[in-house]
Formats: sequence, structure tokens, C-alpha cells
Amino acid sequence: MRAPLRAINGYAEILKEEYADKLDDEGNRLLNIVHASAIKLGELIDDILAFSRLGRKELTKRPVEMVELVHQVVDEVAQSPYWNADVKINIEDLPNAMGDQSMLKQALFNLIENALKYSSKEEKIEITIGSNAEEGESVYFIKDNGIGINMEYKDKIFGVFQRLHSSKTFEGTGVGLAIVRKIIERHGGKIWLESEEGIGSTFYFKL
Ligand code: ADP
Repeated sequence: MRAPLRAINGYAEILKEEYADKLDDEGNRLLNIVHASAIKLGELIDDILAFSRLGRKELTKRPVEMVELVHQVVDEVAQSPYWNADVKINIEDLPNAMGDQSMLKQALFNLIENALKYSSKEEKIEITIGSNAEEGESVYFIKDNGIGINMEYKDKIFGVFQRLHSSKTFEGTGVGLAIVRKIIERHGGKIWLESEEGIGSTFYFKL
């Protein structure tokens, strides 16, 4: 899939660089769409590969300091273009977990980045990462005050390529939550959410 895609990309770039003045405005507009779509397809392929590799990757379970891991992830998410001046992140005391540190980091990254992305149209963004104890088990949660999700789609959004928004409103490929669910399930855990449109969402998981 990558080889023909490289050709589409490469030839579209050559056309843009060397033939732009021979095309009229409409021709250039169409060429830009071809190029942007080829780039998007590349992103989709990367994400689906990451998703399928995850199924084969061996799990190395060790004690994980969740507070430390969440701090690392928040520092990375802070580089995102969605981060604006008015972001408040509350990191509560979190119990340590037993799991694969790099996979858990990926899951936390996807959830926290989503919390930020889907709140980015709010004036003030507030995200809380915390935990509850449920029947002796630790439940971790990521809560945001973003656009929220219609609960009719609470299962669908964990599917590969399933998105509730167009790329024009929020960029994305629709693979992030599928990866999160796979990571949590490979740990023998469970993920679910509570949400209200216009109010915000809370994603919960236990391992
Ligand atoms: P992506 O963000 O690339 O679209 P995801 O798999 O991470 O893909 O999410 C799937 C869909 O679930 C998103 O397109 C969005 O509609 C919805 N979603 C995920 N997280 C949130 C959130 N925190 N708030 C609102 N909607 C969300």
C-alpha cells in the first residue's frame, strides 16, 4: 500500500512544483485535493499498522507509577497545537498499576490528547485525571469539559475508523480509541465512558 501511495504523493508534488502555472485555478485546486488525500491515506495506514502491531506485541507487566506516567504524558500533550493558554490539568493521587508501561503510556496519551482536542473549542479547558476504588479495584478516569459524546455512540467510537466528527471540525483518523480499547483489553481490563453533549466526557478504565 505504501509503494503506490509514495508514487501518488511524489507525482502530485512534482505536478505542484513544476506544472502549477500550466494548470488553471480549478486544476490546482483539484491537484491540492489529490495531494492532501494521499497524505491523509498515509496517516490512516500508519494508524492501522500501529493498531494491528499492538495485537502481536508481547505484554511486559511490571508495577507502573501512574502519577509519574500521567505527568510524562501531560508534558507531551502540552506540545499539541490544541494546547492554549487556558488549560487547567488536575492530576489527582493515583494508585500504582500493574501493566505494560509503554502500552499504558500510549493509552493515556490517546485519552488525554482526545480530552484536550475535543475541548479545544471551549474558552476554559479543564481536564482531570483521577481514580476511584470500585469493589476493591482501581478505576482510573480522564474527565474533560469538552463537546461531549451522544451516548448512543458509546460503543461505536471504540471501533476502527469510527469518528463522530468530520476532519474539518476536528482532525483525526478514528483509530485512537480502538488502540486504547485493545491495550486495556490485552491487560484483561475494561473501558467505558459517561458523557453529556455540550458538558463533557469522562472515560474510565480498569486494568
Ligand atoms: P479521532 O480522535 O482520531 O477521531 P478516536 O478513535 O480517538 O479518533 O475517537 C473516536 C471519536 O470519538 C472521535 O472522532 C470523537 O468523535 C469521539 N471522541 C473521542 N474522545 C472524545 C472526547 N474526549 N470528547 C468528545 N468526543 C470524543
